[in-house]
Amino acid sequence: MTLNFEKEKLISELKERKPKKVLVQLAEGIKQNAPEISEWITGLGIECIFSGETCWGACSVAVQEAQALGVDLIVHFGHAQFIEVDFPILYMEVQDVLDLNPLLKKSIPHLKDYNKIGLSYSIQHRYDIENIKKFYESQGKTVTLSKKAGTNAYEGHITGCEYRGLRAIQDSVDCFVIIGNQFHSMGAVLAVRKPVVLIDVYNDDVRNMAGLREKILKQRLFSIEKLKEAKNVGIIVEIKPGQKFGNPAKLLEKLRNAGKTAIVITMSELTPDKLMNFYNIDAFVELACPRIALDDFAKYPKPILTMREALVALGEKSWDEILEQGIV
Ligand code: SF4
Repeated sequence: MTLNFEKEKLISELKERKPKKVLVQLAEGIKQNAPEISEWITGLGIECIFSGETCWGACSVAVQEAQALGVDLIVHFGHAQFIEVDFPILYMEVQDVLDLNPLLKKSIPHLKDYNKIGLSYSIQHRYDIENIKKFYESQGKTVTLSKKAGTNAYEGHITGCEYRGLRAIQDSVDCFVIIGNQFHSMGAVLAVRKPVVLIDVYNDDVRNMAGLREKILKQRLFSIEKLKEAKNVGIIVEIKPGQKFGNPAKLLEKLRNAGKTAIVITMSELTPDKLMNFYNIDAFVELACPRIALDDFAKYPKPILTMREALVALGEKSWDEILEQGIV
């Protein structure tokens, strides 16, 4: 696999914007490319600092770091724009250049019962999508790209917390094909009612994601029951600009009205070690990335719920309603 960092676009943008000092954020899978990117930027006489903080999505634009360092521009590699922030940011999406044909052919037996395909891709495969569409159409399938909705940047684009574009077309397709990795397809299988087939570009594999849905839904119901029983509850908020999935003050009030002792805890990024010393808290509701609660169930000794799940535990929403809306 070759990555295209669009060096020429980067250089031309930097020449036009003329920053003196930039903060570079690299998505987790491409941090190893920092030295070559540094050479391109410093070669233009621009001071360049790399953020060592984790960068799982474009929700994590490092505005606070940038302000603290006094840079003129953030260059964010590996994600498409997700939210509007009041700071200059140059998004460099980074393309995976690879021949997807062998995997597409491998996917055909998995799709034999489906004629109408809903298609979505993670941002690295944006430039392949017309060829992918043509491939499936040549196999007699009808292909519909998921809608551009919510925080997604393009038609067909998928991120780990935005599935409204898939739900918008689910009644008109027989299944979804996701070009990307397990993370995006797992979110999809929780968000839609149709089968989801993953073209796993990184493990050279094709998988139907069906089994995973039931396992995760059981874990979610278990966590909801634990929050109902909890006496002490922690509400976790992160300071990342794009991770505001609920209003902590309102949730605090609801939990207190339900007879619980609730507190709000802030952190730069939720990790299991940061919760260890809050050992008298029985359950946590996180208003940060919803995928932490859903994907990392086994990593946390205490139940971690999303805002929507907390509303089920508090009796304000029904579980069926959440399933209908998609639990991500
Ligand atoms: S909130 Fe989570 S799923 Fe959404 S973009 Fe950020 S890291 Fe990805």
